[in-house]
Amino acid sequence: MAVRFSAYESIREEVHSKGAILVAVSKTRPSSDILGLLNAGQLDFGENYVQELQEKQEQLPDLIRWHFIGHLQSNKAKYIVPFTHLIHGVDSISTLDEINKQALKSDRVSEVLLQVRIAKEETKFGILPEQLSAFAESIASKGYLGVRICGLMGMATNTEDESMISSEFKGLRKSFDQLQMKYMGVGGFDIKVLSMGMTSDYRIALEEGSTMVRIGSAIFGERKPA
Ligand SMILES: *Cc1c(COP(=O)(O)O)cnc(C)c1O
Repeated sequence: MAVRFSAYESIREEVHSKGAILVAVSKTRPSSDILGLLNAGQLDFGENYVQELQEKQEQLPDLIRWHFIGHLQSNKAKYIVPFTHLIHGVDSISTLDEINKQALKSDRVSEVLLQVRIAKEETKFGILPEQLSAFAESIASKGYLGVRICGLMGMATNTEDESMISSEFKGLRKSFDQLQMKYMGVGGFDIKVLSMGMTSDYRIALEEGSTMVRIGSAIFGERKPA
């Protein structure tokens, strides 16, 4: 298993040409692969598991911008809040309460994305699109000083049906635009990131206005089944 540098270079070119940011998803990959990619100029890396992220963060240069893209349980926030650049998958007020508390302890502001459930699959986490507006209102009323809401994250249905994927991403883009309008200039909000698109659907996501894609297998090779 080795880093696919030429695939990486061409994906990076494609993503940057759309003005988007590439997060290299390094879950289950060794630190040596991350170092190799860092040497090629990649600074943003995504991880799904708290303990794995903590271990890699300790071993690797501080230059790396770590993205937590898994589902964060409140009781684990304390382990990653002190150093994580962006937390993508937040979908509950209790988790935000805890992130806020831990961020204030570390004297920082944690940037987070709200995860929206756009897929037609039962198992996915996230806020339902029709509940997003009320959810954002309750965040605003909290007046968090340690949390900044920076945008939305979503995962499309795992399907071959490209028109379905594209309509799910389109819906997320619409929610993003509405949120951006509504919270422009509001304290605790800086709606600037729309994290959508992975190996199988990042081209569609970029077409639909993604500003950040999360790509693993196309860069690092297929993951071994868990
Ligand atoms: C694993 C993962 C990715 C990357 O998936 P690939 O198909 O390997 O590109 C992106 N986003 C999330 C939330 C993931 O868990």
